[in-house]
Amino acid sequence: MKFNLLSDERDVARLMFGLKLGLEIISDTHMAGVMNEVFTANGQMVKSLWRRNVKNWLQAAFIAGCFDVAPLRRLLLAHAKLDVRALIDDSAELRKWALSRANPPHHVSCTCRMGRADDAGAVVDPDCRVRGVENLHVIDASVMPTLVRANTHLPVIMIAEKVADRLRAEHR
Ligand SMILES: Cc1cc2nc3c(=O)[nH]c(=O)nc-3n(C[C@H](O)[C@H](O)[C@H](O)COP(=O)(O)OP(=O)(O)OC[C@H]3O[C@@H](n4cnc5c(N)ncnc54)[C@H](O)[C@@H]3O)c2cc1C
Repeated sequence: MKFNLLSDERDVARLMFGLKLGLEIISDTHMAGVMNEVFTANGQMVKSLWRRNVKNWLQAAFIAGCFDVAPLRRLLLAHAKLDVRALIDDSAELRKWALSRANPPHHVSCTCRMGRADDAGAVVDPDCRVRGVENLHVIDASVMPTLVRANTHLPVIMIAEKVADRLRAEHR
C-alpha cells in the first residue's frame, strides 16, 4: 500500500518541528547525566531479529549484553551515533535524515469515518451504514471518527461486535 506520506509540505514541517524539539531536549546539558549515546537504529537489522528463533535470540542477547558495557556499546554504535547538534543546526540535513527514516505506524484508520447526519464529511452513519447506498456497511478501522489513543486491534473488534449485534437484532 502506498500512502504518499509526507507528500504534503505541512506534514514535513510538523515532523521537523517535533524532531527538532526532541533533539533540542536531548542535547540540553541537564540531559547529559541521564543518557548515553544518541543513535539511529539500523531498521533492516532490527527487522531481521523479529523472527523468533535460536539464532536471533542469541544475536539479540549478544547485542543487549554489549549495550550494557559502555566501551562495547560505543564500539558497536561507532557508525550509528547521531550528531544531534549538526542536525539541529542544519535544517536541510535534518530534513534529509527525517525523510529517509520516517516510517508509518501500523494503525491505519479513519478513511471512511462515522458521523452524524449533518456531518458532510462522514461516510457512514452511527450504525456503519454507508450514506446514500442501500444495504452496504463498512465495519472496520476506517470508520473510526478520529484515531484512537491506543492500539487499534481491540477497538476494531469492539466496533465489529457491536454492529454485528445490531444487524442480527435488525434481521431477527
Ligand atoms: C505490522 C502490524 C502490526 C500491528 N500491531 C498491532 C498491535 O500490536 N496491536 C494493535 O492493537 N493493532 C496492531 N496493528 C493494527 C491492527 O492490526 C489494525 O488496526 C486492524 O487489524 C485493522 O482492522 P481492519 O478490520 O480495519 O483491517 P484488516 O485487519 O487489515 O482487515 C482487512 C481485511 O480485508 C481483506 N480484504 C482487503 N481487500 C479485500 C477485497 N478486495 N476483498 C475481500 N477482502 C479484502 C484483507 O485480506 C483483510 O483480511 C498492527 C498492524 C500491522 C500492519
